[in-house]
Amino acid sequence: MPGFDLAIVGAGIVGCACALEAARAGLRVVIAERGVVGGGTTAAGMGHVVVMDDSPAQLALTAYSRSLWRTMAPELPAGVEYESRGTLWIAADDEEMAEVFSKQTTYARAGIASQVLDPRELAEAEPYLRSGLAGALLVPDDGVLYPPVAAEYFLSEARRLGVVLLSDHEVVRCGKGRVQFANGTSIEAERILLASGAHIDLLPSLPIQKRKGHLLITDRYPGVVSHQLVELGYLKSAHKLTADSVAFNIQPRLTGQLLIGSSRQYGDESREINHAILRSMLERAIEYMPYLKGLSGIRVWTGHRAATADKLPLIGPTADHTLFLAMGFEGLGITNAPGAAVLAIDALLNRASVIDAAPYLPSRIQQEAVHA
Ligand SMILES: Cc1cc2nc3c(=O)[nH]c(=O)nc-3n(C[C@H](O)[C@H](O)[C@H](O)COP(=O)(O)OP(=O)(O)OC[C@H]3O[C@@H](n4cnc5c(N)ncnc54)[C@H](O)[C@@H]3O)c2cc1C
Repeated sequence: MPGFDLAIVGAGIVGCACALEAARAGLRVVIAERGVVGGGTTAAGMGHVVVMDDSPAQLALTAYSRSLWRTMAPELPAGVEYESRGTLWIAADDEEMAEVFSKQTTYARAGIASQVLDPRELAEAEPYLRSGLAGALLVPDDGVLYPPVAAEYFLSEARRLGVVLLSDHEVVRCGKGRVQFANGTSIEAERILLASGAHIDLLPSLPIQKRKGHLLITDRYPGVVSHQLVELGYLKSAHKLTADSVAFNIQPRLTGQLLIGSSRQYGDESREINHAILRSMLERAIEYMPYLKGLSGIRVWTGHRAATADKLPLIGPTADHTLFLAMGFEGLGITNAPGAAVLAIDALLNRASVIDAAPYLPSRIQQEAVHA
């Protein structure tokens, strides 16, 4: 096998987006995947393309990435199911309504369009929500998509530009310009990019924790929900760093199906459905939208988010100058894949980035933790 400029480990949405960006930059790229392309957490994700404002750095990366998705939208194949549905952040009471206004101010400062809805406007926008809600913030340019097909699309474009895919290739060691596989073969590459999601076996000291989530998809009920609906309490539950939590988060799919989430748990690495968590997740959803009670769910699954302590991804070089990271995307890897890919390849090529790349650099965590 010839030497490569870049070997990517992991063909989730992040690895595939990086492969495409690297190929566009003229690099000779190989990508290795032990399972199915886009079959890891990418297949388990909801596909909400959303600007989030937990921190200025999170806002910068999600806004940048969302703008890239919006630019790409006209070229995306139908199977990606990209739709600019908009997010409705729902306020249950006056306290949450205060958050609506503060969120609007933050978004306005960042140039993100949003609009405050009063209870009547919210009911008009989403008639199946329960009455008595305080209002909502509409973020019209957020989108939804089907993540595994988006990953496949990135990789098919990358392969058109010459990227080599090694499927059924489990990487057992990587670093110092060499990638070794479980089948005993190895390849050399100037640079290696680890994009293995929540799997940190290759660098076990990486400070990434698995954060489990459940999702349920219903039968087809077109017209019941029009926007991605998220309770503002979601922000509080996503913030909790230890406790289990559930929040009302529902996505209308192009098929007419409704994708209902979501839960967050640390310390459960199994793929099993936790029925207590699932029940409280669905009870929460029904609390916001009683109509859901009469609908039939057809499938439930789980996935593991790759969580870092500061909720920012790790993008850029490690102490081993051949080894770069694009990991730790928690619940925003679908949204952030295009922006992260640009930052990762900029770092690799020593190019300046459109947004400040410093907040995502792995060097912000202890260097010895990165060095295997
Ligand atoms: C319930 C849930 C809902 C979510 N909803 C959203 C959402 O609405 N919006 C959003 O932006 N994000 C969402 N996310 C997060 C998003 O799904 C992830 O951040 C994203 O999919 C991560 O992509 P990735 O490419 O980093 O990881 P993965 O998709 O896990 O890809 C990593 C790949 O690396 C491969 N791999 C690992 N180790 C090796 C090895 N040793 N050798 C070879 N291959 C290897 C794996 O097989 C896998 O295919 C959600 C996540 C969950 C769990």
